[in-house]
Amino acid sequence: MTKWMNKTIGELHQLLVEGKVTASELVEDCIQGVLNDSCNSFEATCFEEARKEARKIKEVKEDEYLKGIPYLAKDNYSTKGVETTASSNILNGYVPLFDATVVRKLRQKGMIMVAHTSMDELAMGGTGTTGKRGVTTNPYDHERIVGGSSSGSAAALAQGIAPMSLGSDTGDSVRKPASHAGLVGFKPTWGRISRFGLFPFAPSLDTIAYFTRDVKDSAYLLSALAGHDNNDMSTSYRKKEKYERYVEEKKTLHRIGYFKAVVDAMQDEKIKAAFFDLLEKLRKAGYEVSEYDYPSDLLDALYPTYMIISCAEATSNNANLDGVRFGPAAKDNPQTYREYMKECRTKGFTDLIKRRFVIGSFSLLSANQDEMFSRAQKARRLIVNKMNEFFDSFDYFITPAAFSLPKKICDLSTAWSTNPDFLDNIMTIGNFGGYPSITLPMMKEDGIPVGVNVTGRVFEDGAVLALADEIQTLTGLKNLTAKEVK
Ligand code: GLN
Repeated sequence: MTKWMNKTIGELHQLLVEGKVTASELVEDCIQGVLNDSCNSFEATCFEEARKEARKIKEVKEDEYLKGIPYLAKDNYSTKGVETTASSNILNGYVPLFDATVVRKLRQKGMIMVAHTSMDELAMGGTGTTGKRGVTTNPYDHERIVGGSSSGSAAALAQGIAPMSLGSDTGDSVRKPASHAGLVGFKPTWGRISRFGLFPFAPSLDTIAYFTRDVKDSAYLLSALAGHDNNDMSTSYRKKEKYERYVEEKKTLHRIGYFKAVVDAMQDEKIKAAFFDLLEKLRKAGYEVSEYDYPSDLLDALYPTYMIISCAEATSNNANLDGVRFGPAAKDNPQTYREYMKECRTKGFTDLIKRRFVIGSFSLLSANQDEMFSRAQKARRLIVNKMNEFFDSFDYFITPAAFSLPKKICDLSTAWSTNPDFLDNIMTIGNFGGYPSITLPMMKEDGIPVGVNVTGRVFEDGAVLALADEIQTLTGLKNLTAKEVK
């Protein structure tokens, strides 16, 4: 058990300011946590660099919120000098020569990276079982998944190994594991934080995202990370804001909507009851909460649309993983580039990745493009248009972040799901529209957490954080760590 690492950044910051603990002590505590991890949460460590950084920190001032605080990064954040593989064999041995913008910014603020966390290979998938080191388990119940693809980042925080970890969110890869692990998982507006140095999966959906133990920490992090970056031309020039002010001054908006189709389809009575209970509390707190009839054909379109767009973009973006530029060389004496690439990609990728590249390539073939890729783009437009219409009458969309307890590992299937449940994909709406979206704990069922998710209009990140903070007060659930480890 760690001594300090189960606290929030805010709490640790106060201790640092008062001189009650040193950055070196915090880093050692985090290292102990990493060494005692029981969920298979890690890919690579950078203990010595972390110790060196910590030694340089002599004092922490009141306004240096992040200084001296250890953190973890998903294994798809390019980190100079640290092996970064996105948990894929094809990138074994790849040590980047530069830092992702996010990593650089956190370093400038004095945050200290201690390790890279395990993930679903190349950030595709949602189970935490496809990375090259095997299954990452849920610390609340090791027989269950913690979810993915940011699995190690979630499992580590839930064990109290660090106060913050970076993930990435293309469909729900931070917001779903946050639900399964009792954490705050925040995906800010697309284009608010630079993605330079984040390994691309599907760049029109990919968003920097992260886990914290409370909402206020998430707000402080956004203030530190937001802003234009010349290395990422999709970043916005909008002025940066002090997002923590929205939380401190409770600057929430008023109208909250949930989808009729979602509540109609919910099976788990306990989750349903907790969700309605929360809506009632919000009403009592003065919010206008009502139902919205979002069309069910668009909800059914979420999964196929997501699959076609994300796989097409992934296929194109990962074409550089050919075994030549990165990763282990081919050994079977290939005679041509094609043979070389075939060997490296056959050995380097798991089946999930291969399947997604087949779907991506198929939908991009010129003969299929109109029928598949362009159609998916049109469907995305309809989904987002309807959502923007929703946001004409509502300020927030609220939904449970998960509709059942996390799956048991023994119940997972690799078979293609032919009848996907739209509920499992509801949070992809946040990526399709680039909306700010946050998951935080809502309840516990059999000791295992289940989260609620709030989404707002683009660039209204502050208002989303403010409502999340209000919900945190209403539920009383924050700063959770898994104690009842089975
Ligand atoms: N579960 C989704 C997928 O399988 C989400 C991935 C993500 O957000 N990176 O693609």
